[in-house]
Amino acid sequence: MGSLLHSDTQLKDHSYYEASLTRPAPLGPLAGDVYADVVVVGGGFAGLSAAIELAQRGFKVVVLEADRVCSGASGRNGGQVIVGYASGQSEFERQLGLPAARQVWDMSLAAIDLMDARIAQWGIECERKYGYLYVADSARKARALDADMDAMDKAYGLPTDRAYGAGVRAMIDSPRYVACAYEQRSGHVHPLKYGLGLARAALTLGVDIYEGTAALALEPGTTVQLRTAQGKVRARYALLAGNCTLPAYGPQLAPSIAGRIMPVGTYIVATAPLAPSQVQAMIPSGAAACDNNVVLDYFRFSQDARLLFGGRVSYSSRKPARLQQRMAARMAAVFPQLRNTPIAFTWGGFVDISMNRAPDFGRLGHNVYYLQGFSGHGVALTGLAGQLVAQAMAGEASRFELFSRLRHRDFPGGALLRTPSLVLGMLYHRLRDYL
Ligand SMILES: Cc1cc2nc3c(=O)[nH]c(=O)nc-3n(C[C@H](O)[C@H](O)[C@H](O)COP(=O)(O)OP(=O)(O)OC[C@H]3O[C@@H](n4cnc5c(N)ncnc54)[C@H](O)[C@@H]3O)c2cc1C
Repeated sequence: MGSLLHSDTQLKDHSYYEASLTRPAPLGPLAGDVYADVVVVGGGFAGLSAAIELAQRGFKVVVLEADRVCSGASGRNGGQVIVGYASGQSEFERQLGLPAARQVWDMSLAAIDLMDARIAQWGIECERKYGYLYVADSARKARALDADMDAMDKAYGLPTDRAYGAGVRAMIDSPRYVACAYEQRSGHVHPLKYGLGLARAALTLGVDIYEGTAALALEPGTTVQLRTAQGKVRARYALLAGNCTLPAYGPQLAPSIAGRIMPVGTYIVATAPLAPSQVQAMIPSGAAACDNNVVLDYFRFSQDARLLFGGRVSYSSRKPARLQQRMAARMAAVFPQLRNTPIAFTWGGFVDISMNRAPDFGRLGHNVYYLQGFSGHGVALTGLAGQLVAQAMAGEASRFELFSRLRHRDFPGGALLRTPSLVLGMLYHRLRDYL
């Protein structure tokens, strides 16, 4: 396995989500040769959603998962279910024009509806909550927040309730923020419970999921072949849904798209449980929250009253030094009342960012599809992405093509230099966050 996946395994130590449930017994690895209509590489939200949609359309589906299902980003993210895209709408407007950008926006709302429909259909108990707070920590950021929210409401009809100055404290009990905007469509979820629910649904629909089974090589053709350590899958179609761990296998699987994605580490701490009255006092609406800095802080409460606080980024595959202390300091800057609250869990994972932060969906040849570049906005969008791929494989490609028309560029510097150039770019923006 690639070095990235190795260090990725270290990063997921002490995830609160893994500690909060008992996984079912592992699904065995693939041994021998099998045939399927579709082979899916990656058992995260994207791969599992596609598998569900394909099975519902009568396709025979095999999922290859290198580790356990949802052991990647899907099982350890902030759980924030967010409307829209990491790129904002301007990238879609610029590349596709306003009418198509509107369709893309509507699809981000459809992604949330689809997620809720699946949760209801499959009875997935995943602590689903509604409400989202966008917060700003300086006068300049407050002006930017206002301008963004006004523009979104005008062009796309996204209403928000705003508060400024002292009024912010009624929405979020933090001295840090000078403005906030509350929005109702977004919210949060326990991501691992949601993902394991998707896996159960896929199994119920007859999907074969092989855990501990990395796809090591892809041989294109009318029949695609995916080779694993102990077997092979032959299929009419393949879907590459390995997220940013994919570049670790890039040379074997999809070298032509690997350079368009940068794996960026992001980290979360979970506190010990707080008193329910303290949770209620800190964010009375129970919303998830996120600031509008480039290197952003994002946080929410879990159902068992822990603050899950995410932030920091790293561009190396190693865990940053003194991570827990630095995360705790960041959290205390937002909520000084938690300065002495113990941190119970610290973990992280990699987001797959694209140059323009827009999702990168497409097809290699006529029968190998890929989904990547969710850029930290994948909790809801992955579900829709899986549906779009299934529709495309079933002959209805118009919604998928709306995304695949987007142009994406490689990170400058190729595999070796893309990290330093991104770091320089991000350092510049991080400096601007402090102005
Ligand atoms: C710490 C963190 C916080 C985040 N917070 C949020 C948030 O609050 N809101 C939000 O919307 N998004 C968030 N994201 C992003 C979101 O989690 C992802 O966009 C989403 O989970 C991506 O799903 P996926 O299925 O594409 O990838 P993954 O969940 O990473 O799944 C890919 C799977 O493919 C497997 N795999 C890779 N290569 C191979 C191979 N060759 N063979 C077999 N299997 C392979 C991996 O083991 C992995 O299980 C966050 C991400 C992280 C890491």
